[in-house]
Amino acid sequence: MVEELDSFKIAQRQLDDAAEIMKLDKQAHQILREPMRTLVVNIPVRMDNGSTRLFNGFRVQYNNARGPGKGGIRYHPEENLNTVKALSAWMTWKTSLADIPYGGAKGGVICDPKKMSIRELEAVSRGYIRALKGYIGPDIDIPAPDVNTTPQIMGWMVDEYSKMEGYDAFSVITGKPLEVWGSEGRNDATGVGGMMVLREAAKTMKLDLKKAKIAIQGFGNVGMNAAFAARNMFGAKIVAISDSKGGIYSDKGIDIDKAAAVKAAGKELQEYGKVEEVTNKELLESDVDVLIPAAMENQIKKDNADRIKAKIVLELANGPVTPDADRILHDKGILDLPDFLVNGGGVVVSYFEWVQNKAGYYWELKEVEEKLDKIMSRSFRDLMQTRKEYKENGKDITARTSAYIIAVDRVSKTMKARGWY
Ligand code: NAD
Repeated sequence: MVEELDSFKIAQRQLDDAAEIMKLDKQAHQILREPMRTLVVNIPVRMDNGSTRLFNGFRVQYNNARGPGKGGIRYHPEENLNTVKALSAWMTWKTSLADIPYGGAKGGVICDPKKMSIRELEAVSRGYIRALKGYIGPDIDIPAPDVNTTPQIMGWMVDEYSKMEGYDAFSVITGKPLEVWGSEGRNDATGVGGMMVLREAAKTMKLDLKKAKIAIQGFGNVGMNAAFAARNMFGAKIVAISDSKGGIYSDKGIDIDKAAAVKAAGKELQEYGKVEEVTNKELLESDVDVLIPAAMENQIKKDNADRIKAKIVLELANGPVTPDADRILHDKGILDLPDFLVNGGGVVVSYFEWVQNKAGYYWELKEVEEKLDKIMSRSFRDLMQTRKEYKENGKDITARTSAYIIAVDRVSKTMKARGWY
């Protein structure tokens, strides 16, 4: 049978699997299988050559029982509504697992920022915010950066919203530059938070991270920050990194500063120097202790899951492991930690940014990191505890299903208390 790779169908299947095991109320299940609000917008933009181009954008607000929508905006030429729907569902589970007072949402615009001028990019970003007037707001839905969107873009967006509303609404968007009241620690929070989870996971697996070999697929914003955090926090050895053009491998460890400098100079990773070149397929299947997919969806599937050798798979990307592969990894004894646990650090520090904006009182980096660590470590422990309890009752569930059970249970209890079913 051909494996299902549509992200939203995958998200629904993951929910269905958890719903069955946790015996979720049928009405709650029905509500949680679909987004509550789906917005499709068309943004006309005057391009530099004088012509007008129409950009297609989306915002999906999946569930707002526990609080306002929260989720990033992606700019990508292949963005599509079903991926945004899946990502908005995963945001709902992510904020719930972290136990922060938000629902889940996600947005996207079909565009290729690499082929646009700064002025065109600003016009699309401001147009997107105008198109969502009335549907976003500090207590309605709070966007943030994601793939190909930057703090600068968030700066333009918060400015556009503030002009529309007639006051400085800094808390409407997170991931802003520090100059417009972003938070310390937001830029690398996803990678740092992921490493806090890895530290806890390594303790349970009795893995010494100083000696461990780590491979990272995707050396972009998240993957690069994770590499720096792994080195800074536990002196870990990153033996392989890659991007869309392929990767490099060295048993002695890759010099992360040098690799980052190669990328910053606009060069290919292969120009790093005397190391082995590997394909992305080889990187995923390499003989490492920790494998970190930090690039995109559907990288570990039914047809390659059996060849994964890592002891821990740490999902920093969204949706990198399909449901079939998830089960295969679990049965092989590999601890596959799900995306909405591992990459939750970004939204947790976004939450801190929103709290600081609302209070008008700002924290130092140390305070941000301590608070982040508390939430990431607690979420990991909750997940392992739930898995253990099910195991004691004769049900061998994956780490992902365990995380789903916690997150879905919280959302459904809030919906019940609010009288939604
Ligand atoms: P990015 O665009 O900065 O980096 C992505 C990297 O992956 C690039 O190096 C790219 O070359 C590489 N890549 C693309 N296709 C690849 C392939 N087939 N094989 C190997 N490498 C490939 O994006 P990012 O912001 O780092 O996001 C990466 C993932 O993390 C996405 O799934 C995103 O949704 C998720 N994520 C991002 C954030 C955030 O704050 N940026 C937060 C949570 C989750």
